[in-house]
Amino acid sequence: MELEELQREVIRFRDEREWERFHTPKDLTLSISIEAAELLELFQWKEDSLKSIEKERIREEMADVMIYLLILADRADIDLGEAVKEKVKMNEEKYPPDEEHFS
Ligand SMILES: [Mg+2]
Repeated sequence: MELEELQREVIRFRDEREWERFHTPKDLTLSISIEAAELLELFQWKEDSLKSIEKERIREEMADVMIYLLILADRADIDLGEAVKEKVKMNEEKYPPDEEHFS
């Protein structure tokens, strides 16, 4: 599924429930951080490995982060796919593959 199609699906879900009124930029940003913390919590006091955590839980929290990102992007009129592409390009220029970046 394309990112734009995914975003439309998330916005449709939100609009059918009339939840847009709750989705202020501040609360959407807080929600991204909270969901990222829920993802982080899965790793708390566990072995530093994906094997120690149920994949379905990781999957769910990653989806929660993505959902709020897509809603915030819609609200801010930001093309998230384009933003990611541009950021990767900037990082490619900043960190050429043939150079040592960690010493
Ligand atoms: Mg969650």
